[in-house]
Amino acid sequence: DAKRDGRGVVRVFDESMDENIRLRRAIEGGLSQAIAKGELSLVYQPIVGREAFEVVGFEALLRWNTEDHGPISPAVFIPIAEESNLIHELGDWVLAESLKVLAEWPGQYVSVNFSPRQFRRHNFVGRLVESVQHAGIDPRRVQIEITETAIFDDADRAADTLYKLRQMGFRIALDDFGTGYSSLYNIRKFALDCLKIDRSFIDGMGRERESAAIVHSIIHLGRALGLGVVAEGVETETQLQALRVAGCSHMQGYFFSRPVAQERAKEIAEARFIAVPGVLDVPADIP
Ligand code: C2E
Ligand code: MG
Ligand code: MG
Ligand code: MG
Repeated sequence: DAKRDGRGVVRVFDESMDENIRLRRAIEGGLSQAIAKGELSLVYQPIVGREAFEVVGFEALLRWNTEDHGPISPAVFIPIAEESNLIHELGDWVLAESLKVLAEWPGQYVSVNFSPRQFRRHNFVGRLVESVQHAGIDPRRVQIEITETAIFDDADRAADTLYKLRQMGFRIALDDFGTGYSSLYNIRKFALDCLKIDRSFIDGMGRERESAAIVHSIIHLGRALGLGVVAEGVETETQLQALRVAGCSHMQGYFFSRPVAQERAKEIAEARFIAVPGVLDVPADIP
């Protein structure tokens, strides 16, 4: 009867909540042992200049291959790690590992993602400086990727942190730009090197006028402020050519290369350019 059905619905709902919590706990538990078990690794995706596809840097991306359940996406486990101090353990591992690998490349930078909690961690700047010194790395070869969320909550403090990092030579990229809630007025307060246009806008560029308009606006904003602009998630030659014409300075995406393991990244770094057969030269009328 209706009453029983009602209870049934409630029970199913409760169980799926329980299921969710169990899954989170399982992920937390697994993650806390992932480093010791050697389940973490990094892959590296080249970032290229728009003209000759010169490899200027690589973004380090975290991978977690679990013994029991196979690979789990960072889009799933990073937000869970971000809710506790686990993110710091992971982040420390990512930084140390990427600084080690960087030494194998002739001159490119490594671009490392930092979540808002990492960015707000006590003594963030001091720890970074200590890490690069310990690894014997020039900070100019290290790019810090942060999102709008990390800096616009406490804009004055964030501006101060970024200024210090910039002073020490670190590069700063604003990741997933366009998806957060930055105020264009505030953006000039931050010491940045580049804006990374979120993949969703590149993806929509050929289909929706709105996405194309946003991409163009970000490129213009970046140029006006003297910043580099990196398009994320470039998958087709059509996107590449549209971005070139729009004046986008750098690109990253499957069209050039998927994220690759350390050994392959080294080969790409040493080759210095990514050869893309059949791609035409830059159109002459580039702004
Ligand atoms: P993100 O920083 O915006 O990284 C770009 C994502 O787009 C990566 O996903 C990359 O593999 C993917 N991607 C690159 N080119 C293409 C393309 O052409 N097509 C498509 N469909 N995708 C492309 P991934 O590796 O799954 O990482 C997801 C997110 O997880 C990252 O987004 C970043 O926010 C976070 N993340 C990854 N590694 C770390 C890390 O070491 N620390 C922190 N705090 N976050 C990380
Ligand atoms: Mg990123
Ligand atoms: Mg991004
Ligand atoms: Mg993104």
